[in-house]
Amino acid sequence: MIPIAAAIAALATGAGAAVAGTGGMGGGGLVIPEPPVVSDVVCIRDCAGIRKVTEGSLVEFTGKRLDGVTRVRFPGEQGPVDGKLVEQAKKRLVAKVPELAADGRPRVIDALDRGAKAPYALKVVDAIPTAAEFELQEATAQPRNSFFFAKKKTQLTYRFRAPERTDMRIEVVNRDTGETVRHLVKQAEPNTQNVARWNGMTDARKPAKQGNYSFRIGPVNGSVTTSESARFALRSHIFPVRAPHSFGDGFGSGRGHQGVDIFAKCGKPIVAARGGTVIYRSYQASAAGHYIVISGKGTNRDYMYAHLKRRSPLKPGTKVRTGQRIGLVGETGNARGCHLHFEIWKGVWWGGGKPIPRVKQVVRKWDVWS
Ligand SMILES: [Zn+2]
Repeated sequence: MIPIAAAIAALATGAGAAVAGTGGMGGGGLVIPEPPVVSDVVCIRDCAGIRKVTEGSLVEFTGKRLDGVTRVRFPGEQGPVDGKLVEQAKKRLVAKVPELAADGRPRVIDALDRGAKAPYALKVVDAIPTAAEFELQEATAQPRNSFFFAKKKTQLTYRFRAPERTDMRIEVVNRDTGETVRHLVKQAEPNTQNVARWNGMTDARKPAKQGNYSFRIGPVNGSVTTSESARFALRSHIFPVRAPHSFGDGFGSGRGHQGVDIFAKCGKPIVAARGGTVIYRSYQASAAGHYIVISGKGTNRDYMYAHLKRRSPLKPGTKVRTGQRIGLVGETGNARGCHLHFEIWKGVWWGGGKPIPRVKQVVRKWDVWS
């Protein structure tokens, strides 16, 4: 929203003066943002179908630059009608279907009066038929302990009874806060096992918070339900040493130690506590030995693993999943005894970031759940 507001302000008052003052359109000049783009529109609340709505239904637009949208216009029985904006982000926008809306493709309009039409039409019905014959038979989440950005996404398997192929709504609910963090809509077959997967991202395309979760499912034109077996936990990190271990020095320890030492037998596996991208893999005879640094996906944290038994097979630029093996416990460099020296940096490792002093407490927490 800010770029457009700024652009308008510049158009109205500042641009001419800025041009006169600086003699050109150089630094800080007028930039007109690109218009919005709509790639999809689906009904997410009080729906009669995926794109079948009624007055008061909430529809979700996905696309680009939707944060610059100021109006959502629906075709109407007596000319276009505006729907109320309910939620708005860069790639997502939710609006309420207004009274007198009619079948057709809604459009979003930005502050500069530029519109983008949804690629699909919505059908408007008078009332939502109830899915009385729908019955959820089974819903199971796996794994019960899920890790963000792990190789295995959280998976929901479900089975339901219904007279025909059904438009399903699947919600991911944070049980600690009660918040629905993700809505999925898809068609599914009755009387057979259906599968849906969740990558840990919210509707706003951000990593979901760690915590206790559950899937809720139901037909889009009915209510959603859940079951005990549809619960799972989402964890942000996994403990990096996958073997019996003990803790050595933490941060500081009177010797400027910037991480925590985790002792385990040489040759035991070390995994990425948080997946992301390898940014360094090197060798330092006098200190870290064989080491690797991984920039954590969605974290603004870098994770450094040192004294590896031998060079990690993962070269810089490699994408790594949470829980993926990155090396073996060793004692290369100045290590005394087989151990992993582990650092967490807020920001870039030796590139403007800072090591986290609470690293020992933090990894002890991971140790409890993994
Ligand atoms: Zn150490």
